Amino acid sequence: MAKKDNLTEELKKHFGFDTFKGNQRAIIENVLAGNDTFVLMPTGGGKSLCYQLPSLMMPGTAIVISPLIALMKNQVDAMRNFSEEDGVAHFINSSLNKSAIDQVKDDIRKGRTKLLYVAPESLTKDENVEFLRQVNISFYAVDEAHCISEWGHDFRPEYRRIRPIINEIGKRPLIALTATATPKVQHDIQKNLGMIDASVFKSSFNRSNLYYEIRPKTANIDREIIKYIKSKEGKSGIIYCLSRKKVEEFADILKANGIKALPYHAGMDSQQRSNNQDAFLMEKADVIVATIAFGMGIDKPDVRYVIHYDIPKSLEGYYQETGRSGRDGGEGQCIAFYAYKDLQKLEKFMQGKPVAEQEIGKQLLLETAAYAETSVCRRKVLLHYFGEEYLEENCGNCDNCLNPKKKVEAKELLSAV
Ligand code: ADP
Ligand code: MG
Repeated sequence: MAKKDNLTEELKKHFGFDTFKGNQRAIIENVLAGNDTFVLMPTGGGKSLCYQLPSLMMPGTAIVISPLIALMKNQVDAMRNFSEEDGVAHFINSSLNKSAIDQVKDDIRKGRTKLLYVAPESLTKDENVEFLRQVNISFYAVDEAHCISEWGHDFRPEYRRIRPIINEIGKRPLIALTATATPKVQHDIQKNLGMIDASVFKSSFNRSNLYYEIRPKTANIDREIIKYIKSKEGKSGIIYCLSRKKVEEFADILKANGIKALPYHAGMDSQQRSNNQDAFLMEKADVIVATIAFGMGIDKPDVRYVIHYDIPKSLEGYYQETGRSGRDGGEGQCIAFYAYKDLQKLEKFMQGKPVAEQEIGKQLLLETAAYAETSVCRRKVLLHYFGEEYLEENCGNCDNCLNPKKKVEAKELLSAV
């Protein structure tokens, strides 16, 4: 009991929160005990705290491997706001010059730094490996650990080098965290990081406040979406399209129809992109029409709908993208338009890629098709995909449960997924 109270006190002291969310306490206790830990928790669940709090409580510096420079900076800034101490959190990545890196190393040597964020490509640099060999490391955290797997939605080859580099720097306990929970990805991560025996903490991936619907894609799609958006006047929504060209075109169509919409894709210049993102966050625009480039790390709690103009390339992507609605726990409507010929188009795009990659791509598409075409509860199928059994007969919040078509044996369809 005493230990528990102590942990809550530490939480309050460092972060100002009164209680832990979900599995946080059990995870943190496991890290503090020096065990390898594997965390599967949906986006927004509070994964960062699972390594931040133990890092502050343990002697030495925790090394956090994280893929995105922008996110890294946000996290470090947030840690510094929480803390009175100078240099408690730092990052090393390609955005820092030599003298900034020297400053970081100096703080670490002096024992001030509890958390060091590094990009995987910086971790593997000889001079950094050499430096880290001399540092007292409390543990390693691998954030966004799905980047290790080709079955994840954001494969990064550098992530495969993490384990060998850790062995070189010096073995310490490991915590890996991801919001990607398919059994294949989970297995890849544990194998690649050499943590098959880790304690696994998996939260439910069910988002009960999200409504899932698939609509057939017809020639009328533009008018259908415009009508839908107008029925949600003043509310925030995201429309995902597959191509940059479509993003531009459809944003223009919406504007011509009196809707406050802006485009977002990786081909736009970065100033324009961040202006549009800010306009959406500050509610100067109601709708953002975007490719999947939009969303990673964006936390707008009151997005009320996500529309997929084109069917996504994987159910994983679909789950992540729809998951950006209703983050405040309020309503989130997720409507995807599906035409079989879109799948064929996606398959064509993959030609010319390495065969192994094509095979993976096709398998992911098949799973998406099965989801789109099923008459079983969408939530049940989606959660099954993540290795989770949803036991309710009727979720009451998807098209198939609210408007049952005909009775099909759920087992048959699930085995096809
Ligand atoms: P994830 O990485 O799982 O997507 P984050 O670590 O970014 O999630 O946390 C999401 C939000 O939850 C953040 O705003 C964070 O401050 C908040 N949060 C985390 N833990 C707690 C807690 N115990 N109590 C209240 N808010 C929390
Ligand atoms: Mg995170």
